[in-house]
Amino acid sequence: MCAETGRNTDPRDASELVALIQYGLRNVTESAVAIPFPLVCPVCGGTRESANAIACHACRISLGTLQQGLCPHCRRYRTFSDTVCDECGTDQIPRSVAVVALLDSAWRDIVHAFKYRGDQSLAQPLGALMAESLPGGLSVDAVIPVPTEKHKQRERGYGHAELLAETIGGHFDTPVYEGALERTRRTKDQTRLSGDQRRANLRGAFRVSANCDVNTQSILLVDDITTTGATLSEASRALNDAGATSILAVVLCLNLGIVSDGV
Ligand SMILES: [Zn+2]
Ligand SMILES: [Zn+2]
Repeated sequence: MCAETGRNTDPRDASELVALIQYGLRNVTESAVAIPFPLVCPVCGGTRESANAIACHACRISLGTLQQGLCPHCRRYRTFSDTVCDECGTDQIPRSVAVVALLDSAWRDIVHAFKYRGDQSLAQPLGALMAESLPGGLSVDAVIPVPTEKHKQRERGYGHAELLAETIGGHFDTPVYEGALERTRRTKDQTRLSGDQRRANLRGAFRVSANCDVNTQSILLVDDITTTGATLSEASRALNDAGATSILAVVLCLNLGIVSDGV
């Protein structure tokens, strides 16, 4: 078991939280006019009707989606399942990766808005799409995000995979172990690296936290983009070494190099 995140059940902490919220609300009503968060369409700059929409209506209907399982080894589409791939016969971990969409320019704009332009309101609709790409009856012991690098999390104020994992965990009523995976060191920016360079860059880059026991647990790993699969593979290896018995993954986008600008 690991400490769950985002679900505060300690009554002492809860009362402190209420006090903080009351203090914050008082400050807002006394000293400032509330400024609504602008719901900007990340593709065209128009308006999203609600925080549950990832883009405006026009962009949404032209957005391509896959909602498909993938073998992380041979990259063929396959049924999302914890079995060895029928196509390549390779016992790869994670066994299957569920993919919401191919990374094209529209999806790149959405991911950029979420990761780099601070639009955290996208976490809910994006996480919901990821949950919908998984089998409805999915049952795993824990949802674990690929950890955002600490310096990036500090710069942005949040971890993007962590926010997506929270939405997915809520959808399946499954615990989210946010701190379960840790990065062992800082790694190079991956966007300009080849497959082999990415694998070398990430080798041994993850470990399971000493505060977390994933032994015999089934895990759903969460990340935003997969390109060569190196990140999912290394993160899965760390979970496997710590005794996790089943590792599946879900990502927002599969990057096949359709768009040149990396994310
Ligand atoms: Zn739009
Ligand atoms: Zn395969």
